[in-house]
Amino acid sequence: MVRVGVNGYGTIGKRVALAVLKQEDMSLVGIVKKTPDYAALQARRLGINVYAPTEDDVRKFEDSGVKVGGTLRDLLESVDVIVDATPGGMGEQYRKLYDQFKVKQVFQGGEKPEIAEVSFNSLCNYGEALGRRSARVVSCNTTGLLRIICTLNAHSPVEKVRAVVIRRAADPKEVKRGPVNSIELDPPKAPSHHAKDVKTVIPWVKITTVAVAVPTTLMHVHHVTLKVSKKLAKSDVIAILEAAPRVMLINAERTGITGTAGIVEASRDLRPRYDVPELVVFEDSLNVEDDEISLFQAVHQESIVVPENIDVIRALIPLELDPTKSIEKTDRALELNKKLW
Ligand code: NAD
Repeated sequence: MVRVGVNGYGTIGKRVALAVLKQEDMSLVGIVKKTPDYAALQARRLGINVYAPTEDDVRKFEDSGVKVGGTLRDLLESVDVIVDATPGGMGEQYRKLYDQFKVKQVFQGGEKPEIAEVSFNSLCNYGEALGRRSARVVSCNTTGLLRIICTLNAHSPVEKVRAVVIRRAADPKEVKRGPVNSIELDPPKAPSHHAKDVKTVIPWVKITTVAVAVPTTLMHVHHVTLKVSKKLAKSDVIAILEAAPRVMLINAERTGITGTAGIVEASRDLRPRYDVPELVVFEDSLNVEDDEISLFQAVHQESIVVPENIDVIRALIPLELDPTKSIEKTDRALELNKKLW
């Protein structure tokens, strides 16, 4: 059993912690919370050991009656891997401490690529993370782009990608972010950073991205055009996507679902927290013209990176040398790839 700790118990951290609890080859030693709020109480109720970043924070927890196991340092003494899910940019401040305790380190997409030895996606470069000290699971949008590129690339080498990223304004819990009533070019100047981020994992790909932010909290949507070197028929692309792990095809005619609200509503009926860690591809939007494939896809920003966080732990240790086997283990434990309709 690999002993895992999670530093930061917000949107990503709490999902990764619960996903670790479901794996047969991992144990969750504890999580680090900054504030003794409802989420700390819920973690305690789930039987999760809660730690605080510093001695001062420990006192805050004690004053509010939440039992803690000690500080982050105490947690680091008893784990093999620390998953850093603190707010973007904060991982850099913690990196030296993690090094001091000689633990393997997983960072998130809000950190700069230089923070880790490798930027990671399970379908694209699992092998490059094997036995490394640290890895960075790229952001939600980058993970969505990499899923489609690497899935298709396994069947027909992808020569060029162009993508329009339509970003959700904020996560559902975030009340201070926007836009509330605008479609904002984000950034105004092309290209957006997503193309560069994709290249941190697959430097060989030619890719350009632009992005806008829109007033919604549910999911991101991308329109992606991929030029492939071997022509594929539309039926081939559908068959590839149907068989691929962590990709879910959605047919508007059969399901009546034509957007992110429909996906989330379908998930609400079947899944905890309406998480959709799979990349959702709108089948009806799929167009194949000569060597160009284009489609709309939706990304559930809060959960898409969770399975990659689990696989990367297996790669770093290394617990599993074969990406396919790790993906299968993770997906079985998290009950992924099951149709929502
Ligand atoms: P979040 O704000 O929801 O969670 C961060 C947690 O860290 C909070 O609970 C906060 O209280 C805690 N924290 C703050 N200071 C801390 C400290 N000093 N020590 C320990 N914990 C501390 O953020 P998030 O959305 O979960 O993002 C975490 C990382 O994941 C970022 O790098 C982000 O870019 C990345 N990411 C976020 C999303 C998303 O859509 N939310 C998607 C993919 C990747």
